[in-house]
Amino acid sequence: MDREELAPHVEELARVLGDKVDKERILKELDTYLNHYRVTLEWAKRNIVKKMGGDPCDLPGGEGRKTVADLTGSEQSVDLLVKVLTVNPKTIEVGGAQKNIVYGYMADGTGRVQYTVWETESVQLQEGSTVLIRNAYTKEYKGSPQLNLGNRALVEVSEEELEVADMPVGGGSVEVKVSELADGMNYVVICGKVTKLEEREITASGEKKNIVTGTLTDGTGSVELTVWGDSQLHEGDEVRIVGAYVKSWRGIPKLNLGDRAEVQVLEKGSLGDVDSVSPKVRTMEDVEMVGGAMDALVRGTLVDVRDGSGLIKRCPDCRRVLQKGTCRVHGKVKGVDDLRIKAILDDGSSSLNVVFGKELTEELLGLSLDEAVKLTMEERNPDLVREMAEEKLFARTLEVRGMVRSDDYGPMMIAREARFHDMDVREEGAKLLTDMEGFH
Ligand SMILES: [Zn+2]
Repeated sequence: MDREELAPHVEELARVLGDKVDKERILKELDTYLNHYRVTLEWAKRNIVKKMGGDPCDLPGGEGRKTVADLTGSEQSVDLLVKVLTVNPKTIEVGGAQKNIVYGYMADGTGRVQYTVWETESVQLQEGSTVLIRNAYTKEYKGSPQLNLGNRALVEVSEEELEVADMPVGGGSVEVKVSELADGMNYVVICGKVTKLEEREITASGEKKNIVTGTLTDGTGSVELTVWGDSQLHEGDEVRIVGAYVKSWRGIPKLNLGDRAEVQVLEKGSLGDVDSVSPKVRTMEDVEMVGGAMDALVRGTLVDVRDGSGLIKRCPDCRRVLQKGTCRVHGKVKGVDDLRIKAILDDGSSSLNVVFGKELTEELLGLSLDEAVKLTMEERNPDLVREMAEEKLFARTLEVRGMVRSDDYGPMMIAREARFHDMDVREEGAKLLTDMEGFH
């Protein structure tokens, strides 16, 4: 937009802010937001008003209807024109009965909001469609408004072209943390330390292209990043990235730096000691909402040890798990022993499938692979290790760190670290008992 096109918007902003304000400054702000940061006009205007001490609600337009940024979390009945970004079906338990719900993100020009559809019979949403929602209500969750479509909600598909900001709303700041990155986010501002930089040659639509990949870490986790143009990144740099976007690749959100992305190098140490920070504990619902994570920490109660846990045999060629001594690809082979636990953890917000590999299984059960093989043979019970896992782990609280990816069956964590969260209490109790019994 050039100066002439911006002029009416500058006048409007000046009216809302009172005529004392410097129109040159408004013009400069507007120009920066639109032509430099490339945010939507609506978002830019609201933020300028906020930044310069005005009330964005004084901006004209949208009578009777609210924008995402206006949501307070206490609306009883609200109308919104939004674009549906994601649609995720889910079955939950309500009062002992199974109920189908749908959740995801919606956005308009002012921001992005999480939503839940409680009546999936009457309300059907399609990803990418623009809809006019009437009679929705909101609730606050962790300081952010959440949109709920209950039995009174009406949804109409709209032909209106909606330009969406697709960024979280909050205090005029659009900066997000690694743990908040979700598939489909479009204009991301994020700070972190860059490591594991690597130049790669790929072939994209028949053309060879050089890209740079690496890892960005902040206090909440790590994310893989890809630079599609000239990379301005250096190993160990602490940076502020403006205008990146997020796309999931193999079920994990990844940060992409396209032509629009800008990198500001920060002074060394300005982010603190990022390397030694372990990610904060996240709710499973959170992890599920954003579609996965390269590095997440969750805490939950083990509610099920699933089939396929315990002592298993793998194909020596491809490591696939054998079924009755047969590999799906290589046929009858002499299997190699391995240990794993496939479990379901629940933290009250949601549940998560977690896979523990050999080392973690050995650690959690206090049993080596060799011992497991020996015991299984002695007892002539192929399910022995699985039964041990059930006995030892059921109802225990575990803190697990690992990678989470999503597929058709939902999110699944490949654990990298695991520890009993309730260990101290339990072990002390057990020790006390042994001492009292006077044995061992
Ligand atoms: Zn095989």
